[in-house]
Amino acid sequence: MDPQERRKNLIERNEELERLGMGCSGCSGTCCTYEANSMMVTPIEAVELVDYLKTNGLFNDELKNRLQETVAKYRLDQGLGNGKRSYLRRTYTCPFFNHKELGCPLPREVKPFGCIAFNSHNVELKAGEHCYSEKEILEKREMLAPDEAALNEELKQQHALYWDKVPMPVALLDFFNVKK
Ligand code: SF4
Ligand code: SF4
Repeated sequence: MDPQERRKNLIERNEELERLGMGCSGCSGTCCTYEANSMMVTPIEAVELVDYLKTNGLFNDELKNRLQETVAKYRLDQGLGNGKRSYLRRTYTCPFFNHKELGCPLPREVKPFGCIAFNSHNVELKAGEHCYSEKEILEKREMLAPDEAALNEELKQQHALYWDKVPMPVALLDFFNVKK
């Protein structure tokens, strides 16, 4: 399954909301900042994002520095335990956020699942007041990809990852340190 196919139902829901006038244009991107963002990723999401960044020449020292600054500033590497899903979530401003309207430079096809499922539900108000994560579409996506648990385990072995799900900056930094 390619990254786009894996996110198909989430992207379709994004597009539906945009057709209904409930897209994110006009918003400063509150959901990507420490005010609301606590995005965590699985090994599959991390690998797909790293592949995209490498293909586009973005997996470089500048990104590594931004990731390290984010982890340090928001203490994202503390209290992770064994990387299971019981981790107490911490909020942080995403290292990819551009700090302007529609501030995410990543294509939907490689964004973390949670980012694509966090949607606006109001035509006029655009500052996060009517935005929330659509759990139903996240659950449906999981149902459509029953092999993902096995693939996550495979990727953990392959890349020597100890975690099931960690904050995105912590996950990406592991790929700078792992020898391939
Ligand atoms: S990946 Fe993009 S949409 Fe997700 S939190 Fe970061 S900037 Fe926002
Ligand atoms: S989901 Fe909400 S807070 Fe996030 S960019 Fe869209 S309108 Fe803004």
